[in-house]
Amino acid sequence: MRATSRGKVAIAAAASWVLLTGTAFAATDTLMPTRNYTYYCGSGHGICQTDNETLTYYMDSGGTYELESNDRYYVNETVSSDYAPTDLVISYDSSPSFSGDAETDHIWQEGSTGLSDDAAGMTWCNDAVDLYACDQHYIRIRGNGYYVGSLTCHEMGHGVGLVHGDLAYPTRSRTDVAAMGCMVTGTAYSPDLGTNNFNNINATY
Ligand SMILES: [Zn+2]
Repeated sequence: MRATSRGKVAIAAAASWVLLTGTAFAATDTLMPTRNYTYYCGSGHGICQTDNETLTYYMDSGGTYELESNDRYYVNETVSSDYAPTDLVISYDSSPSFSGDAETDHIWQEGSTGLSDDAAGMTWCNDAVDLYACDQHYIRIRGNGYYVGSLTCHEMGHGVGLVHGDLAYPTRSRTDVAAMGCMVTGTAYSPDLGTNNFNNINATY
């Protein structure tokens, strides 16, 4: 029954093609958890996904961590150019919520309190909801020239679960712009999210 056998093979091949094209295909896994980043999300440590595809953000206005207009420009530019085109549904929350089970997802700050000397910025979860996801991230970046597109894109990436190259799967150089986009570190900062991170986000959210 050769004809039948060939028919089955053809059907199986067609089925896997549908499976491959139905999911965004990412050549390098850059979004936690990866095979090289198996730590769980926790409040105050680690890298976490945001808790769902609806992402609200707020930029501190007034007080210690206020963003000036040029800082705000780069945050808004990163949102509109890099992350809004993904499957994330992003909006600004001018009345942020800091408690309950639907907190404003990303709180942007300008400041250096708590940053190690060699860090230009940091992103942390303050309310883990499960092993992978966080209800609210803080993103704090130094003032005086550090608020630029490469760093806002990078830190926002951590706030949706993106990791550095050495924690991606397969492992990539920390300066591999083609695979890591704005998640590179060191001297090779890129302001663009990049296609690979874009695909990882759409495969997760
Ligand atoms: Zn980083």
